Amino acid sequence: NLYNDEEYLDASSTSGAANTHVVAHHYNELKEAGRRERHKSKIYFMRNFNNWIKSMLINEYMAKIKQQKRVGDALRVLDMCCGKGGDLLNWDKATISHLICTDIAEVSVEQCQRRYQEALQRAEKSKFGHKFTAEFFACDSTLVRLRERYKDASLQLNLVSCQFAFHYCFESFIQADCMMRNAAECLEPGGYFIATIPDAYEIMRRLKAAGPDARSFGNDVYNIEFECDTDALPLFGAKYQFHLEGVVDCPEFLVHFPTLVKLGRKHGLQLIKRSTFADYYSDTLTQGRQLLQRMSGLETVHPQRYNNDEQFVHLRKVFGTQRFAPVGSLSKSEWEATTLYLVCAFKKCKNSWDA
Ligand code: SAM
Repeated sequence: NLYNDEEYLDASSTSGAANTHVVAHHYNELKEAGRRERHKSKIYFMRNFNNWIKSMLINEYMAKIKQQKRVGDALRVLDMCCGKGGDLLNWDKATISHLICTDIAEVSVEQCQRRYQEALQRAEKSKFGHKFTAEFFACDSTLVRLRERYKDASLQLNLVSCQFAFHYCFESFIQADCMMRNAAECLEPGGYFIATIPDAYEIMRRLKAAGPDARSFGNDVYNIEFECDTDALPLFGAKYQFHLEGVVDCPEFLVHFPTLVKLGRKHGLQLIKRSTFADYYSDTLTQGRQLLQRMSGLETVHPQRYNNDEQFVHLRKVFGTQRFAPVGSLSKSEWEATTLYLVCAFKKCKNSWDA
């Protein structure tokens, strides 16, 4: 248990990390829904859409890395806050050679490792299967120096990915600085750090739109309720309670984007992309349409989902895309929830001056 660990107690008593145990507890307790339940979920399409965004982002940056490499060169990845291993298939497809998976929730890390081992066994049986080595450990990335837990502390990484999790470190400067250092320090120059995080500007825009004294806003799939002074937001510790239908119910922190960029620079990371999900979708749809159609799973959609068609926002209507098949239809509520997020990417420079 991380929380009986003296190292953790020492660090948390000085770092301002009062919420990490709440977050870890939440994710440890989260049950993985079965297939049937997932299909019935109100955020079924949104989850598929978010997975598509992650796949597109990972493919985009793995392709850039491969351009710098020769065939057969090792490709090493850190999946920071890996959860239950939702991106294992993406790493498999990217034909990487080594993966490090870490998360604060030990139950999730165990599940991630199990999924990896099952996939490895399948790959070993098939002569076409891709195999890569991997290591797993449970750890708080906002308080612990990850490289000290790697099997080889001198390992050089090509890509660090932190999906739907980096915002947890904005509880305090010490945590954000630690997590950014973990993202940066083992990346080789030319390597990338990619992340998906909530867009603080969009969150504040919606809060203001909800009324001058509003403390919360949302719809039937998500809700955000502020627990700090929203008239004088702090750079760190701008806390809100985030609820997302059946999957998230825990404290999160606004990520002040200029501060994120400065922190990156301090650790030799230069911002090269910042794009809202809505923009990233419209920019990548041409290359990613087939994948989106496969991932959005129309064949398995519960027919009741179409009973009240008016509730659905077909993506083609939102963006005026002429030929978008009627798959991937998100409800209006799901679309509002997914457009709370943005993607960002940083490139590792030789030193922090260059960044
Ligand atoms: N990246 C995974 C994905 O995309 O499927 C999981 C995303 S889930 C929304 C957020 C993850 O961040 C959870 O698994 C949680 O345990 C992890 N997390 C939150 N705070 C963390 C911390 N301080 N250190 C490491 N992991 C953390």
